[in-house]
Formats: sequence, structure tokens, C-alpha cells
Amino acid sequence: MNGSKRRPNPQPLNLVLLGAPGAGKGTQGERLVRSHGLVRISTGDLLRDAVRRGTELGREAQGYMEGGELVPDSVILGLVRDLMRTGDAPGYVFDGFPRTIPQAQALEGLLEELGRSLDAVLLVEVPDDVLVKRLSGRRACAKCGAVHNVHFDPPSREGRCDACGGDLVERPDDDPETVRRRLEVYREQTRPLIEYYQDAGVPFHVVDGDRPVEQVHADLEKALAA
Ligand code: AMP
Repeated sequence: MNGSKRRPNPQPLNLVLLGAPGAGKGTQGERLVRSHGLVRISTGDLLRDAVRRGTELGREAQGYMEGGELVPDSVILGLVRDLMRTGDAPGYVFDGFPRTIPQAQALEGLLEELGRSLDAVLLVEVPDDVLVKRLSGRRACAKCGAVHNVHFDPPSREGRCDACGGDLVERPDDDPETVRRRLEVYREQTRPLIEYYQDAGVPFHVVDGDRPVEQVHADLEKALAA
């Protein structure tokens, strides 16, 4: 057995990671995948991949994404439904999904069809000024996908990935105007999910995301163990 691998948690877990763009949902989602053996469904990553490959889904989504708007619920739900069809994942961590109340209602139905339910919603909170700085400084490697930040984690060679030497590029929706719009859309369309889930009685935990990655991860684990 590979000693460096953690044993997956035998308890199936289905989690939603909520938070604004730049809150660190992707990073924390990856950590939860490693610590609990879950499958991460990041609708943003799936859409970016579809745009890169020029598929029909990508062509449909691109304009919305570049404007900082949400892709229509019907498109997103088709995508998620396809991924969950087999139902053979030990558990899911949903990252960037749901983003609207209709998406949350649909997720409930999809989980129910698999005989599952949502175990917890984890809200990662980060102040707006920090979000703007994180998003405007974010650069991803075009080759290996590693993410750097020119403000907080500058690469040792400008424009080059520390991990593989690939080109570091800015996400097209990380420009200041689109970032402003994405934060507005989050406030208007996604934050209402906080009340929605609290009213629904789903275990709901808030963690302070304005801290080092490891501390945020430790708090998420503590919340899940509670
Ligand atoms: P993200 O990487 O999660 O910030 O997503 C990037 C962009 O993809 C968003 O600004 C939206 O345009 C689109 N997107 C991702 N997930 C969703 C979703 N669940 N509903 C609607 N649009 C989404």
C-alpha cells in the first residue's frame, strides 16, 4: 500500500462548498477530496475545460463567463446530472455549484435519486477587499494548472510557473470589471442560498477563509467532525 495516500473515509459524505469567487473553494475542495476520498464537482473547471476544447457547451457558456454572469441553470444542471448519473462516487464535494436556488433544489433531487442527501454546507467567508486582491493577482499555469498569486505567492521567475516552468496566464474573467460583476452576482444570486440551506436544516458551518490554507482546512475538518 502506498503509505503517502490517506485512507478514504468509509462514511459517504456529500458536501457543498459555498463562498464568493476567490474564497479558496477550489483549493479547499481539493483538500477535502484528499482527506475524505470524495469526487469534486467544480462546474467552473468543467466549463473552462469545455471552452478550451471548443465544445458546444463551451461555446454556449463562454459569453456568460467572460461577462461574469451565471451560465443558465438548465445548462449547468445538464452537466451535473451527466456526471452524477453513475452514482458510483463515494461522496461528492460540490464547488461553485449550486449558485442559485433552482440549482440547489435540483441538487436535492439528484442526490435523492441516488438515495443520498446533503450532509453539510460549508461557507468560506473572505472580506471583499481580500477577494479583489486575490482574483486580480491570480495567475494559472497554462501547462500544469498550478495557481500562483502575484501579490501573495509570486513566482520566482516572472510569468513562469514554479512547478513546471510553463507560462502563467490570467483568467479572462479575473480582470477588474468582470471581478466586480462576479462579486455582485454572488451577492445577488448565490448568497440567498445561505438562508435557503439554514431554513432547510442542512448542517451549516461558516469558516474564516482569510487565513493560511492549512488553517482553513483544519477548521473545515473540525466543522465536519462536529
Ligand atoms: P468559478 O470558477 O466557479 O468562479 O466559475 C467561473 C464562471 O463559470 C462563473 O463566473 C460563471 O460564469 C460560470 N459558472 C460556474 N459554475 C456555475 C454555476 N453553478 N452556475 C452558473 N454559472 C456557473
